[in-house]
Amino acid sequence: MDLDLSPADVAFRDEVREWLREHVPREPLPSLETEEGFAAHRRWEQELHEARLSVVSWPEEFGGRGASLLQWVLFEEEYYAAGAPGRVSQNGIFLLAPTLFEHGTPDQQQRYLPRMAAGTDIWAQAWSEPEAGSDLASIRSTARRVDGGWLLSGQKTWSSRAAFADRAFGLFRSDPEAQRHRGLTYFLFPLDAEGVTVRPIGRIDGKPAFAELFLDDVFVPDEDVLGEVGEGWRVAMSTASNERGLTLRSPGRFLATAQRLTELPGALDDDRVVDAWIAAQAYRLATFETVTRVTEGGSLGAEASLNKLFWSELDVAMHETAWDLLGPDAEVSSWVEGYLFSLAGPIYAGTNEIQRNVAAERLLGLPRGSR
Ligand SMILES: Cc1cc2nc3c(=O)[nH]c(=O)nc-3n(C[C@H](O)[C@H](O)[C@H](O)COP(=O)(O)OP(=O)(O)OC[C@H]3O[C@@H](n4cnc5c(N)ncnc54)[C@H](O)[C@@H]3O)c2cc1C
Repeated sequence: MDLDLSPADVAFRDEVREWLREHVPREPLPSLETEEGFAAHRRWEQELHEARLSVVSWPEEFGGRGASLLQWVLFEEEYYAAGAPGRVSQNGIFLLAPTLFEHGTPDQQQRYLPRMAAGTDIWAQAWSEPEAGSDLASIRSTARRVDGGWLLSGQKTWSSRAAFADRAFGLFRSDPEAQRHRGLTYFLFPLDAEGVTVRPIGRIDGKPAFAELFLDDVFVPDEDVLGEVGEGWRVAMSTASNERGLTLRSPGRFLATAQRLTELPGALDDDRVVDAWIAAQAYRLATFETVTRVTEGGSLGAEASLNKLFWSELDVAMHETAWDLLGPDAEVSSWVEGYLFSLAGPIYAGTNEIQRNVAAERLLGLPRGSR
């Protein structure tokens, strides 16, 4: 691809840079994993939305500005370089939205996308269960057919920010006779619905937003089935590619971390800093390649697993390097939250062991290992 930016791309980048320079809060917002921080980050989402910067690549009718994917990458670079707040709406705008664009009905798109863009609905992902994390196809939560809709029951776990979120998207077994990947259906439901209990789970940093969900005959109308009944697995794989591959972990955040790393004492004498810098640039270039492919009609597919391995390992390596460079000061530095979160990178969005299985079997064509 041509890496020279067009005048329109440069103008877009400059506008974003200027807006962020004026609006990014001088003091960091409180952690979005707390009730107070969640509310502050929701207000920030609303501010972004008012400037039509919350979902730049979406069509205008849903609150975006129809920016190209390349401009979205540029937006992300500026966003992280400016030290702007983490996106509390990320599960919705980066995971569910691409799935709604691909599989949602026009009615669902109208009902959910503008509210998501405006920070009115913050979404949680309700996939994992106590016995179904890596082996997601073994989920046991059920959807039972009733007049006009479905009754959802079961337990979901490890749901990021669900303690304070408004709605969730999840997979449920709608055909009790079907095995594994078959007979699953993808549902959208409110977290304050009758029959939903949300219970926070302690995290390593003690913040309360991470939660498990208990569902007891929660009614969901037919119009909140996303995709076809029984086709939930296929729909979910579209969400998963975005989680591992493109939208959730854009290069901007790793470029910004690599830049911060170079500013630490002794950084420029440390080969790990140089390696991190090069790796972040390589990830940026690989993302441009992905953007080109997707723009030309290609899909993310199994290669998203390689992305996931790359960004999660890079994030851990950069934070460990920062920890070493700072010595005892690290524990009271601005690196703490990022360091603790980086440790979860090889686990969420599908563990790295699973990504290696996917790469081995689906990209390299190696024989399936014993399970
Ligand atoms: C910070 C964080 C946020 C999360 N947010 C969400 C969320 O919002 N919504 C949601 O639904 N889930 C979320 N998760 C859950 C996450 O997706 C699961 O933790 C992950 O899929 C692993 O599942 P598990 O924890 O059940 O581990 P298990 O599946 O029990 O795996 C345990 C270990 O065994 C390994 N293993 C298992 N099977 C294989 C195999 N076939 N080959 C090789 N190794 C294997 C795994 O790699 C892992 O190391 C989150 C997790 C974390 C840590």
